[in-house]
Amino acid sequence: MEWLSKDRRLMLPFKLVYSEKYYLPIGEHVFRADKFRLIHDRLLQQQAAKESDFIAPEAASETDVMLVHSPHYVNKLMEGSLSAREELQMEIPYSPQVVEAFLLHTGGSILAAERALEDGVCINIGGGFHHAFPDHGEGFCMINDFAVAIRVMQKRGRIRRAMTVDCDVHQGNGTAAIFGAAAGHKPNTLPSGPATTLSAPTAANMSSAPSKDVFTISLHQENNYPYVKPASSIDVNLPDGCSDAEYLAWLDNALSSGLRQFEPELICYVAGADPFREDQLGGLDLSIEGLKQRDELVFRAARARNIPVMATYAGGYAVRIEDTVTIHCNTVLAAAEVYRGAVTPR
Ligand SMILES: [Zn+2]
Repeated sequence: MEWLSKDRRLMLPFKLVYSEKYYLPIGEHVFRADKFRLIHDRLLQQQAAKESDFIAPEAASETDVMLVHSPHYVNKLMEGSLSAREELQMEIPYSPQVVEAFLLHTGGSILAAERALEDGVCINIGGGFHHAFPDHGEGFCMINDFAVAIRVMQKRGRIRRAMTVDCDVHQGNGTAAIFGAAAGHKPNTLPSGPATTLSAPTAANMSSAPSKDVFTISLHQENNYPYVKPASSIDVNLPDGCSDAEYLAWLDNALSSGLRQFEPELICYVAGADPFREDQLGGLDLSIEGLKQRDELVFRAARARNIPVMATYAGGYAVRIEDTVTIHCNTVLAAAEVYRGAVTPR
């Protein structure tokens, strides 16, 4: 163990998927597309990770993307023939370079899913573009990277059933539109209000055997974009100013009820940093510590049931970019705490 004493960094018991080409050339924007590099750099500086913990993705193929998105939409992206309205709806400027970056984030989520199935957990230092619909992009999202990753895993015969756990402050409307609510399964919208005063949803609210292959959970601020929220399998509409304790109680509630109804072979965790109280596009009141507890809760729930989990980053628009970076880095630290000792480092 001599090498440990010379270098206090332990190798992480999982991989981090990252490329410096994750940068999205979208100019001055509330979405700081340099955050991916800042997270990578901070993890190294803080000695939370070594360069060898990172693996680089390849761009997703058009064929893979078309497992989720319509050929018509994919062709428009490739040819640069989006209408002005479609570009406006995306809220980021179109360029072939931006398309390339999104394809790389999507390849990153595919790789993260593969590695999660091998190692139990994997984090894509990017991705989480949950507002991308089959036929259009929205809200800074062009390609729904983790939806593509799920479909690719299913196509390769690696999994049959997956669950998305979306903790970005904005509802996962694209994901809900892609996977729909469970067939024969009544979507479950948990009411707003203090979690502590409400008991867990009863079995009467639940379908006993959802036949669907992807179960979607979204915890989000009700009074925020998107104003039309297609039904997820479970939507938790949180009130403005929701605190750490209320949020964690609702998350625990949603995870337990989802995992009672559905047995996924892979969890895609969308670890948005924008439920943070100082986020410019969010109205919840979570602290940095509360967000780390959120991450731990998801990883613990997955590990306790031996369900592989991949994480993606999604939004994060804190007044201070350093806070967004801290929140995203903490997701790696949370996974390391939960999984260290669970998997043999290699
Ligand atoms: Zn968001």
